[in-house]
Amino acid sequence: MSSVPQQPGGWWHDYVCPTHGIELGAREGNEFLCDHGCRLTGDKVEAAWLALEHQALARAARVAARRYSLHGDEADRARAVELVLDYSSLYVQISAAGWSDRSESWMLQGKLFAQALSEAQWAVGFADAIITLGAIPKLQESTELSRTLDGLAATLAESRRILVEDRNDQRSNYTAWLDAAARLVALASHTLGGPSVAPHFAAVVFDHMQLAVRSDGWEWEASTYYHVFVLRAYLLALRGVNPRDMPEEAVDCVRSMIDVLVSIASPDGFLPALHDGPYDRVAMHREVLEICTLSAQFFSDTGLTTVQSWVVERLGADHDGLEWMLDGWFVGAPLDRAPVVVGSRAFEDAGYVVLRDSRNRMVGILDAGPHGGAHGHFDKLALYLYGDGAKWQPAPAVPPYGHALRHSYYARTIAHPTVRVDGADQVEATAEITAWDAAASRVTAVTTTAIDGVRLSRTVQLSDGLLVDVVHVSCDDGQPHEISLGLRPAVDFAVVVEGDAWRSTWGAAAASSAAAASAATPAGAHAKRTEQQPAALTGWHWASGESTLELHAGRGPSDDPSRLQEIGDWAATASEASFVSVYSFDAERSIATVSASVEGTNLAIDIQLSDHDTTRIEVAL
Ligand SMILES: [Zn+2]
Ligand SMILES: [Zn+2]
Repeated sequence: MSSVPQQPGGWWHDYVCPTHGIELGAREGNEFLCDHGCRLTGDKVEAAWLALEHQALARAARVAARRYSLHGDEADRARAVELVLDYSSLYVQISAAGWSDRSESWMLQGKLFAQALSEAQWAVGFADAIITLGAIPKLQESTELSRTLDGLAATLAESRRILVEDRNDQRSNYTAWLDAAARLVALASHTLGGPSVAPHFAAVVFDHMQLAVRSDGWEWEASTYYHVFVLRAYLLALRGVNPRDMPEEAVDCVRSMIDVLVSIASPDGFLPALHDGPYDRVAMHREVLEICTLSAQFFSDTGLTTVQSWVVERLGADHDGLEWMLDGWFVGAPLDRAPVVVGSRAFEDAGYVVLRDSRNRMVGILDAGPHGGAHGHFDKLALYLYGDGAKWQPAPAVPPYGHALRHSYYARTIAHPTVRVDGADQVEATAEITAWDAAASRVTAVTTTAIDGVRLSRTVQLSDGLLVDVVHVSCDDGQPHEISLGLRPAVDFAVVVEGDAWRSTWGAAAASSAAAASAATPAGAHAKRTEQQPAALTGWHWASGESTLELHAGRGPSDDPSRLQEIGDWAATASEASFVSVYSFDAERSIATVSASVEGTNLAIDIQLSDHDTTRIEVAL
């Protein structure tokens, strides 16, 4: 009997509870379990499970092959060989039937999977297992295996042709994976006695870097997840390459892509989940860990230590250890190319501005760039706030794509800490960074296209222990409109009125369940629970005219869309409004009093701190 399921996989994004919007967990018989107690059945969810199961088994083959190569245990070798040969039999049979009939019309089709992309990811794992096992007779003598490798090479080449020629979309993140798989499949064939791998297979990877990576190091879609996705594909694709033999611009590209992750990481190493992608998912944590360990063979200092610590802790005891067994991925010693210095940084091309306090206790990220293609969100001028162990106001990411809330809530403006006018969502838009002072950690960005007839500007300054945020909205028609600014916490959140302003508390002091929420299990596995008390943030909020700040039950981040979260909507009915917030994240220097006043086109904010220091910040409106 085969060790692998005999049915092709569907689309993993359908592995989601329709009621709770979370990725499903274990399978029991024909039921698929949701952490909230649901037991789901049906063809669609089973096909999604199969897609994940085939990936998990390709990973199991990698793990067994690598364990064998490290420790020489015959049982590991037998397990890896069994999986490789059973998949060969299956692939010969399934690919004979042609393209998958489980694909949706927009998909680039695969054969073993609904999507060619999934097939490429699976093929990378499958090929890596073969390369790691080496030229053993049982594999060399298998005609099914050689037919499978030839078949995969043909499938990948045809998918790439459709994508690049018919759809004219070479910079797609799919290309990175098709190219990675094609090169590793060629390496696997060579391992078993086939021809050596043509330089063309690496050259297309370098070509893709030039097309798909922005000048500031971001993958063009400017989503954290797709950045990780493509960077990982590049690193995997370049197995067996000596970085010294790579074109200089390709080395620069890998360095700058890693530096993006170094620069955006929150103080504790969590990667803010900007735009589409999972918020807290085991599979992504493994992907990040693989980037950390492969990067460490590419550069002697990656700058990713904190990021790696965060994912390792989050993965917990159930981690199978694959990423620790990837030694020798590249040829030669790692390059000495120091990482970017961690601090405040503007990504002028992708349009993110990262503000970080000098003691790395807080990170604010302002979204001020292009929309970001199909994975972008309607969140122009959103401001995301992270502390050490606390996600005060995080980018919410999205649930698995098979769930309606991806588009009906999480990609929409309402899910994000930014501005809506008359209750309408923003449209696809671009913002511009109009002032940037790295030394002062101060940025101003403007958009006039996110809301028709409305100019939005946001100035954010992160000084020692304080973050000042000024949002200015003006409507071109001079008529009153309902202007509202979202406050979108992911921690316990409390607000009290104080004179003509409000005070807010985010996290620790607001209530006690924040720690429990931040320590819940990531989606898709059973990770170790960690108890931690996130740091508290306190805010002071004042608007230029009459305004209301309403608290209500809403949604938090997309890792559990059905969990109720207290959120705030701060609204004014006016043709023009300024919303001023001052946040303190240093308990020693909390806010005593704040006063703000508009003088002509200038806004002055005077802050007195509990240690009697005073600060004045001025913002041109
Ligand atoms: Zn459920
Ligand atoms: Zn955005």
